[in-house]
Amino acid sequence: MLRYFGEGQVGDMVFERGNRAIRDHLVDGKDLLIFHTHGREGVRFLGQFECAGYSHEIRTDRFSRSRSAIVFELVLANVGEPVKDEEPIEELDLGVDLAGLRARALEAARSTPQVTGTAARRSLYRRSAAVRRYVLARAAGICESCNQPAPFVTQRGEPYLEPHHTRRLSDGGPDDPRFVGAVCPSCHREIHHGLHGSTKNDALIQAISQKEASAEG
Ligand SMILES: [Zn+2]
Repeated sequence: MLRYFGEGQVGDMVFERGNRAIRDHLVDGKDLLIFHTHGREGVRFLGQFECAGYSHEIRTDRFSRSRSAIVFELVLANVGEPVKDEEPIEELDLGVDLAGLRARALEAARSTPQVTGTAARRSLYRRSAAVRRYVLARAAGICESCNQPAPFVTQRGEPYLEPHHTRRLSDGGPDDPRFVGAVCPSCHREIHHGLHGSTKNDALIQAISQKEASAEG
């Protein structure tokens, strides 16, 4: 977890420009790439992060006046593993239909909570799980790329498909359901490593946006 101070040299920090871009990056389908500058050593790439939450803290600005500062909680994007003490999300899904799962996924993806620490991590995992549950339900056991049935059934008795983030290079972490597809392992590998991977990814983006448009009604 990385604590990241928002921008704004003087006065209270507000959600404009860069601060808004960080808070809303999932909704906007934008990657959050973090670089660290240290003096003459230059710039170091820290990695791709997700905004898990934020808080307001009283800090001094450059004129030594107290002001409200925004502190973002960022976590590495490809740390997609659930936290150990999390309740199983599947239990919350009992009796929820596709529209319900979609509403929950959208709501989860579109709000960056005002929380820090463990609560931020937990909310990030909930978001990730809600989007994952929805896209798997949306696919209904059929790969959203090649339209073939999932290659096998899991030990839990569900068709095996993998969430793929169409707008990103890595697949970890939460996202918006408009940018996540449920694909078979073969399509998934081909999209990431195949000669025609980007063409296949573009076609998947189209297929998902059609599904999402008709779900909007
Ligand atoms: Zn496939």
